[in-house]
Amino acid sequence: MPYRLHRHPRARRLRLRIERDGALVVTAPKRLRQGEIDRFVKAQEGWIARVRERLARAREGRDPALSGMRPAGIDLPAIAERWRVVYGAGETESPERLLRLPAEEATHATARRLQQWLKQRARRTLAPRVVELADVHGFEFQGLSFRNQRSRWGSCSSMGNLSLNAKLLFCSPEACRYVLIHELVHLEHPNHSPRFWQRVAELCPDYRQRVRELKTVWNRLPDWVTV
Ligand SMILES: [Zn+2]
Repeated sequence: MPYRLHRHPRARRLRLRIERDGALVVTAPKRLRQGEIDRFVKAQEGWIARVRERLARAREGRDPALSGMRPAGIDLPAIAERWRVVYGAGETESPERLLRLPAEEATHATARRLQQWLKQRARRTLAPRVVELADVHGFEFQGLSFRNQRSRWGSCSSMGNLSLNAKLLFCSPEACRYVLIHELVHLEHPNHSPRFWQRVAELCPDYRQRVRELKTVWNRLPDWVTV
């Protein structure tokens, strides 16, 4: 079974990861013998097949009009918005939720424009929510930025700067709220200690369900968000 191997000086044991496109990535301690790695991968074949199957099912379940590199629309459940996308001259955005993008551009240029647009949309719609949640529950943060991170929903620095993933717009409103709460609570507890989770549970009693839900969102994202 083919795989991509990363040798890591600090890795203590073998780890497997399946990428969104189904590729297998193996992280191994620096000096582990190739034969041992191959044996380990072989022993995990059942798990690898199950994950790949789950990924494929999630991708098949996506709406083709929304999931490709040049989508005809964008569905943003977190803020209950549905946008239409047309390809013509210039870039404009109408109040009727119609986004017009240049038609002649290469696919990747279009994807980058859409990613920029997503960040802007996240800033306009989620920033006020963060401010409101902070006000209501007494959190103080320094700065707030929106990015397009590959593997995390948000982060909170020791200086009190919050960074949120623009992909949150693809989550349910409840899951999105949970992530905002999670990062705000880090302002009080800069760790994942029992007290941190206790505070999260006070503000978001169903957080366990949201954590599970968030794991499934990655597999359903449109292609243009993740290139
Ligand atoms: Zn955290």
